[in-house]
Amino acid sequence: MPHDVPLQETRGAAAVRDDRRAGGWRLEHSYTTLPPLLFSRVTPTPVRAPHLVIFNTALAQALGLDAVALNSSDGASVFAGNSLPYGADPIAQAYAGHQFGGFTTLGDGRAILLGEQITPEGRRVDVQLKGPGLTPYSRRGDGRAALGPMLREFIISEAMHGLGIPTSRSLAVVATGEPVYRERTLAGAVLTRVAASHIRVGTFEWAGAHRDTAALTALADYTRQRHYPELADHPEPHLALFDAIVERQAQLIARWQLVGFIHGVMNTDNMAVSGETLDYGPCAFMDRYDPLTVFSSIDQQGRYSYGNQPAIGQWNLARLAEAMLPLFDAVQERAIELATASLDRYAERFQQHWLDGMRAKLGLFAAEADDAALVDDLLAWMERAGADFTNTFRDLSSPEARSSDEAFRTWESRWLARRQRQPQTEEDVRARMDAHNPAVIARNHKVEGALAAATERGDLSPLERLLSALSRPFDRTRDLTEFAPPTATDVPYRTFCGT
Ligand code: AMP
Ligand code: MG
Repeated sequence: MPHDVPLQETRGAAAVRDDRRAGGWRLEHSYTTLPPLLFSRVTPTPVRAPHLVIFNTALAQALGLDAVALNSSDGASVFAGNSLPYGADPIAQAYAGHQFGGFTTLGDGRAILLGEQITPEGRRVDVQLKGPGLTPYSRRGDGRAALGPMLREFIISEAMHGLGIPTSRSLAVVATGEPVYRERTLAGAVLTRVAASHIRVGTFEWAGAHRDTAALTALADYTRQRHYPELADHPEPHLALFDAIVERQAQLIARWQLVGFIHGVMNTDNMAVSGETLDYGPCAFMDRYDPLTVFSSIDQQGRYSYGNQPAIGQWNLARLAEAMLPLFDAVQERAIELATASLDRYAERFQQHWLDGMRAKLGLFAAEADDAALVDDLLAWMERAGADFTNTFRDLSSPEARSSDEAFRTWESRWLARRQRQPQTEEDVRARMDAHNPAVIARNHKVEGALAAATERGDLSPLERLLSALSRPFDRTRDLTEFAPPTATDVPYRTFCGT
């Protein structure tokens, strides 16, 4: 029967397609419609012996991926770059950046974008491998990543997500079975990162540095459509885009400050224009309150210290403005005027988000004129007393846990008087504080302990316990003594360049 043949063939092809589709991949490639200046096609370099160290089942499900099929040796192969998921079109993205103040051309030297997964809700998110081998932008690097830093990114990004702070996510870490050579020989790994996109301030700087206005315009239009669709009909679309990026950064950095998060390398190539936290290197959460806290050993000047983050945010946005200038107005003076006006709003927007957040942490509802002074005085006390940032706020909900220090008591009576002036009940106040003051954060000594257990002993249980605690940071109903601040015997954390 002649019609059997094509029918069989069709069935066979469908079966193959189903097989390749296994995993739930729905990858699209809008970025590759941009001018070729902005990316290069590449393929991951296979590794010797991939095995999954950690897999984020909840995230996989949220992405519409088949968590069961991917939590396997097949998944390890995909997340190592040894086999490509169905529909992948891998590229490395080009970008430049200001690193510690100096301009450099960069690009994904050790990252490969597989494509954009369309989630069941219709969201478009980048799926990127970090550490999958050389790209045209690798310069003198090896294109690889080490297991410890990739697990660190996994922990901290998931902790930020748990706190409700916009961030890239971590889907999987695969050990490659190959060494990487840093100060020491380390186990190699690949992280699968998921982000709204990987378009950075540095991506605009790249187009700007090439004086390629067509590419710059295409990038701006693309960014606006992808991340700021509400600006579609704006009469000044490029300026409106810049304004919106400024607003999201002001909000994001305020959120960092409110939980004591220190990014560590806020170079312009690590600032995502989507408003998500991106590129976790020598990042950490502060224990004792000290605005000068830094964690990166190469940050000698404290450029990226906790207290300097808001100002560096604005500095980075000024670099974005410079790159975008040709889009704002054909007359350069006019373009500069417009950009400056927008940039000048950053400080006020940051202060607004920060103060609103601080009010919530103190259980305050409406604004009063002296609120900023009330917050500043609490922080000044914390700094003098060497008080733990997270726990000082957390303990505001529990009168018996608060400090008995005399200076604190003076501040406390002002705060209580301030609370008396608002109509909300004690329960309302406590609920507001509890929803904004985490009971647990990813403290360095716990992160380091979990990484040491995983990388030195192959023991993942401390990492899993930590991740589980961090997934619900505002839940106080558990025993959290294990995650208390470090004691004198805990070694202070500093990362060295080799992230
Ligand atoms: P980072 O400090 O991780 O944000 O990286 C800054 C730049 O250096 C980016 O362009 C990275 O892709 C690149 N890079 C970092 N580590 C490596 C590596 N091991 N191999 C190649 N490029 C790297
Ligand atoms: Mg980076």
